Amino acid sequence: MSERAANKETPANVQCAPELWYGYYRRCHHFLKNGRQCKAPALKGGALCYRHEAQAAIAARHERSVRQLGLPERLVDPRKRLEALSRIMHGLLTGEIDQRTAGRLLVRVQVA
Ligand SMILES: [Zn+2]
Repeated sequence: MSERAANKETPANVQCAPELWYGYYRRCHHFLKNGRQCKAPALKGGALCYRHEAQAAIAARHERSVRQLGLPERLVDPRKRLEALSRIMHGLLTGEIDQRTAGRLLVRVQVA
């Protein structure tokens, strides 16, 4: 079966529990958007590969920053958006969040 045909699997055929081994190495436990499991080797002592471990660290840092700043959950109200902008700017100026996180948060406000 070709790789292209393998990607057309229906979600019912996709395995939900992570496969622990791929050949001779421990396999990353991350599932891709197409429902298939990442085939990269997991880091020693971890469950994820180098790439997905870094993504998880960035996401955790982002969530921690959002909690630390106390941003409102819903940004439908213009006052809440203004408050969020103020908190993001304050966090950026005081060094609580880095530029990358501030950029992501600003995009979130912009989308709202
Ligand atoms: Zn991975």
